[in-house]
Amino acid sequence: MTERVVVVGGGVAGLATAYRLLTSAGGAAPPEVTVMEAGDQPGGKVTSVQVGGLSIPAGPESFVSRKPWAAELCRDLGLGDDLIAPDASGAFLWTERGLVRYPPDAPFGIPGDLAEVFRWPGVSRSGRRRAAQDLVRRARRERTDESLGSLLRRRLGDEATDAAVAPLLGGLFAGDVDRLSVQATFPELAEWEREQGSLIRGAQAVRRMLRDMGPAAGGPMFLGLSGGLERLVEGLVESVGAGRILTRTPATRVHRRPDGFAVEAKRRLAPADAVVLATPAFVAADLVSEVAPNAVASLRGIPYVSTAVVLSVYPPGTADSLPEATGFVVPVGKAPMTAATFLSRKWPQPSFDDRAVVRCFVGGAGAEDVLDAADEDIVEAVSRHLAAVVELPPAPEVARVVRWGRAMPQYEVGHLDAVAEIEGALPPGIFVTGSAYRGVGLADSARQADDVAKRILGGEPADRGRELAWTD
Ligand SMILES: Cc1cc2nc3c(=O)[nH]c(=O)nc-3n(C[C@H](O)[C@H](O)[C@H](O)COP(=O)(O)OP(=O)(O)OC[C@H]3O[C@@H](n4cnc5c(N)ncnc54)[C@H](O)[C@@H]3O)c2cc1C
Repeated sequence: MTERVVVVGGGVAGLATAYRLLTSAGGAAPPEVTVMEAGDQPGGKVTSVQVGGLSIPAGPESFVSRKPWAAELCRDLGLGDDLIAPDASGAFLWTERGLVRYPPDAPFGIPGDLAEVFRWPGVSRSGRRRAAQDLVRRARRERTDESLGSLLRRRLGDEATDAAVAPLLGGLFAGDVDRLSVQATFPELAEWEREQGSLIRGAQAVRRMLRDMGPAAGGPMFLGLSGGLERLVEGLVESVGAGRILTRTPATRVHRRPDGFAVEAKRRLAPADAVVLATPAFVAADLVSEVAPNAVASLRGIPYVSTAVVLSVYPPGTADSLPEATGFVVPVGKAPMTAATFLSRKWPQPSFDDRAVVRCFVGGAGAEDVLDAADEDIVEAVSRHLAAVVELPPAPEVARVVRWGRAMPQYEVGHLDAVAEIEGALPPGIFVTGSAYRGVGLADSARQADDVAKRILGGEPADRGRELAWTD
């Protein structure tokens, strides 16, 4: 019987799991749930910082709408009316000739017909000719995993891959397309090849389907919350109950007990019938070394890369200098940043007034050395490159660098098998969840929270909730 659950990690994954555990028990009494969070406050990467008197998101600022679970979580928390669409849509690609707009209806940036391939912005004439061969090349039929790069290069050639598609797809994971797993990132691309024989035809089929759906297919690609995504964290904390969330409580080990488990934190032991590890995988590896030694190597085997965001606020009167779009992505090595978000276009705030506010991403797979530089050098390099493609002054009025060390899990080829192996090596009652496993974004964290809670609650109905009882 699951009476007491300890959730380790108070990011969105951990908080959402706690919330679902407390609210999804049906008629039965929910288990007693305690969240242990190492940091000063719950929320994990969902956080904002002050830059020149403005509050700017340093982590997530939106979630994808085609995966409905984050929006569902917001609605369940009573935040449905506060879901908002971005003010701008569409994105640009960095090219030698400046920024060029991705065709608005090109799924994953891939053109849906031959005419578009021969107009493909940012790709040379020979690169376009090679990409067009996608329509006639034999399709790979095997269902085994491969790298995104291997699939894209085989179908579209190296140039279109590196200059146009990889910046968009790799960028979401701060990853290297030649290492990222197709199955764990964009499995639909493999399906397009298998079923349509070509990525261009796959993109065409998606576009046709969306057109056939008419207005029902409309709607923004991303959603946010008015007032910022911290409101999701606030909603979760309020529903879970601040008293159940122990901040500044880093868990150090999960121990086995004759009647279940005990989670060690601050040299004390908290007994639990089930433990949910919603931390980075390398932390989970240390935590389970006693209860699941066979899971340790696979948990440690999930690589992470470090990134940083440069949050720049420009002087009054600059807001209109930014093109009407959400931002741009950059092919590997062409600029110090890998992508930029035009925050004042995407999520305009009264506090921004008429100032341009831009967030640039630096670091990530293959570019972590950029992070060795001092903050002021990173700001200088990023601002100079921004000013080269957008009508902005050479330097912002104020800027801040927020570093995210070992923050982005890399779903390399074989990732899903590794996750299955980890799950298979965990004893009943121990669960892992969060961005390391089955989806890096908030929407996937929300979905995994539902799954884990259902699996825990799926056992016998629990007795009345009990207070967390520390035992020494
Ligand atoms: C710069 C950046 C921008 C992003 N933008 C977006 C976006 O726009 N949209 C989107 O969907 N996703 C985005 N992401 C990804 C998103 O942040 C993650 O999907 C999500 O926040 C992961 O939540 P989580 O709970 O799994 O992990 P985290 O938020 O990392 O939470 C893990 C928690 O575990 C705690 N912890 C660690 N060790 C211990 C321990 N031993 N004991 C107790 N607690 C511990 C940590 O302190 C942390 O609070 C972005 C990520 C970054 C880095």
